Amino acid sequence: MIEEKIALFTIFGGTGDLARRKLYPSLYRLYKKGFLNKKFAVIGTARREWSDEYYREIVLDTIAEITESKEDAIEFASHFYYQAHNVTDTEHYASLKTLSQKLNEKYKLEENHIYYLAMSPQFFGTITEHLKDQGLINDTGFNRLIIEKPFGHDYESASILNNQIRSSFKEEQIYRIDHYLGKEMIQNISAVRFANAIFESMWNNRYIDNIQITLSESLGVEERGGYYDTSGALRDMVQNHILQVVSLLAMEPPTELKDEAIRDEKIKALRSLRIFSPEEVRNYFVRGQYGPSTVNGENSLGYREEENVADDSTTETFVAGKVLIDNFRWAGVPFYIRTGKKLREKGTQINIQFKNMPLNLFNDDHSVPLEPNVLTIYIQPTEGFSLQLNSKKIGQGLETELLNLKHKNSAETSANSPEAYEKLILDCLNGDATNFTHWDEVASSWRFVDVIREAWDQETPEFPNYPSGSMGPVCSDQLLASDGFKWFWNPQK
Ligand code: NAP
Repeated sequence: MIEEKIALFTIFGGTGDLARRKLYPSLYRLYKKGFLNKKFAVIGTARREWSDEYYREIVLDTIAEITESKEDAIEFASHFYYQAHNVTDTEHYASLKTLSQKLNEKYKLEENHIYYLAMSPQFFGTITEHLKDQGLINDTGFNRLIIEKPFGHDYESASILNNQIRSSFKEEQIYRIDHYLGKEMIQNISAVRFANAIFESMWNNRYIDNIQITLSESLGVEERGGYYDTSGALRDMVQNHILQVVSLLAMEPPTELKDEAIRDEKIKALRSLRIFSPEEVRNYFVRGQYGPSTVNGENSLGYREEENVADDSTTETFVAGKVLIDNFRWAGVPFYIRTGKKLREKGTQINIQFKNMPLNLFNDDHSVPLEPNVLTIYIQPTEGFSLQLNSKKIGQGLETELLNLKHKNSAETSANSPEAYEKLILDCLNGDATNFTHWDEVASSWRFVDVIREAWDQETPEFPNYPSGSMGPVCSDQLLASDGFKWFWNPQK
């Protein structure tokens, strides 16, 4: 049964890209499904001088493609109010409070507040301090804060930011978004593991040879060059999305599939990550940057030619590495991770490669190994699973051939499944923080990533080192080859 949620959303950065592309359509979907009905209101705020009417028009524009009935959409947009302000301006918070109180009474919102900071993290501390000092946080209803990545650019800056925010909000009131955690199949990792005895019983170093995680993007930095050039793939993708996936794959079974229990196990897994020495970083992590090339007959820019990128930039657009987890379950099992821009194919998948048979009885030379069994979890663009098995080839003799048991969600199912932001906003309305990152997770991830960054910063890489449209630099393949493995997912031209 769908239960109506009651809340006032205050969206800082209400005129921005994230609000328009993700937040308003997600709120509309929740409204269409009945999770939001009469008792909700949204205050959008940013510096631009917009009227409520103009703001509502913008909101209607952002949902035009998914609007089912014009009257509904207009009724939905009528819950939106706009207030122009600069977040550094103290006086503004008094008028924000007055408007909040007015809407609270008008829509009977029970003083339930969700503050969504859809703007640059440099403002997070200022906003949260003002919210507290100007009395916008009270104990009557709930007060929840949703913040966007990036959460700091290293452990130290993340820790300063965290202390600033925590002086106004308690940890349990803070919802740090990692939109990857809203994806259906990421959440399904728990179902694969904890609803299927065949997998969970083999989910350890006795049966698993290695695990590979690839988050591959086919686009370059597009218009995000300015931001990306100060971040790079390690901070932009590994610290958050990839290490979150690692923790879900590596964690011990939680006592229940609820937020605290899952978080506790994820935190333990992240604390078991081996923090590398500079020498180990050199051996276990490689980086790359895309150069110009011709893809499908069209010229493709190299990273250094992109807008707002320095022409001698040493920022990495590709990372591959070997993550080691020093605990009983995973000792000795490499988790290979890989992410990059302008790669051959866009997609996210996890390949779990099981240990091979001790002997190949299907070949006269018993030492020629069989192909390994590989469980693949597809995350995007289409969600699903596949399992690679060996079967006997029909006919005389004992030859084997590969069989792939595959289930991929249909395009229709994927289209109907809630979008990540929709799920995460609903989770927040429900007070369920399972799919958000706890400070302890952020802290462990930064500690892991910082030593890699520091070691890399000591040396100047020879960039560019991979052409657009490839699967990254040669050193990425060598990383696995030196352990006797290869990347399982290797899309061809
Ligand atoms: P954006 O388009 O640049 O929006 C920034 C917003 O902040 C605008 O509404 C801007 O409006 C407002 N703003 C800037 N300075 C302000 C100030 N001093 N006072 C009040 N408002 C101010 O950025 P975005 O892409 O939406 O990203 C927002 C956050 O989400 C960032 O942390 C980003 O990393 C994260 N994020 C974005 C995406 C995405 O798809 N866009 C995805 C993941 C994470 P005015 O100019 O009118 O003031």
